[in-house]
Amino acid sequence: MKLTVQNCKNIALKSNKLKARVDPEQHRSQEGDDDKGDSVARVPPHCHITIKCTREIAGFNGLSEAVRRLDFSSAVRDVRRFNYICALLELLLGGQKLTHLPGAAQKLLLSMLEQLADQVATSKQNLNALRALLVALSSLRESERRACWGRPLGSRALWHNHDHAIARIRHIADSIRIQEPGPEVVPKLHDLPEECIREILLRIADHRDLDAASSAWSVMASVCSEQRTWRELVAFHFTRPQLDAVLKGKEDVDWKAVFHQLRKLYGLREEAQFTETLSLCRHCKCLFWRSLGHPCIADQASTLANP
Ligand SMILES: [Zn+2]
Repeated sequence: MKLTVQNCKNIALKSNKLKARVDPEQHRSQEGDDDKGDSVARVPPHCHITIKCTREIAGFNGLSEAVRRLDFSSAVRDVRRFNYICALLELLLGGQKLTHLPGAAQKLLLSMLEQLADQVATSKQNLNALRALLVALSSLRESERRACWGRPLGSRALWHNHDHAIARIRHIADSIRIQEPGPEVVPKLHDLPEECIREILLRIADHRDLDAASSAWSVMASVCSEQRTWRELVAFHFTRPQLDAVLKGKEDVDWKAVFHQLRKLYGLREEAQFTETLSLCRHCKCLFWRSLGHPCIADQASTLANP
């Protein structure tokens, strides 16, 4: 078959129709876009939330549906959304919340964790996040083991599947090996001048990473002991009035101590931990990823008002 623009368009339309069997709502909105013109705009993942849950919508208002519609599985591979997904999983694994969810949601979250482990194994990044999740998962499994007459509460087949998934995730985590780059990769971190190391450390927003860096290498330790590093971290996380309330006009300041004092008083900037977060639209009660946006009734109303 000759590959022309028209052919490509037909293939695109056919693949959209195939997808429509899986997600009719997405297809409807895509059809709307096709009518508008040649540009095939992808509808960003979004999920309408109905506060009053009726029997008719119960199947579409649960956590598993939200996770599916918001495309969490591909979000795992997105470096901006990775930390947010980890925080959500940590929240659900802690405090036995996972076991209170419906079976389908439990399966979905474990499969998300498996994809996350795969992603960590491929990218060799965020190993500590995966380890923290595994510790939470193990303690959850351990406390569930003897919940009801010596066996976990709930379906035996479901737990059998869960155990297999947990074993797979553990296997992935155990087989991650970080290789030191060979001699052909230059320059190495140790070859960089101190100014470059300082510039790197000044971009770190988490004080625990600074402490870890100091214990890893003496040059980093000396940069981390500089007042400037902590002064800039304070400026990043806290506002001027917050800082003034702690300093009270003091001249001689230990910025590391001030940072920890402020951290205990006010907490760190939440948005600094997550590059990308979910937002809820006030107009259409729709959950969406902040950077991707969503098709909103407010936009439609404004275009109707100003044709
Ligand atoms: Zn909206």
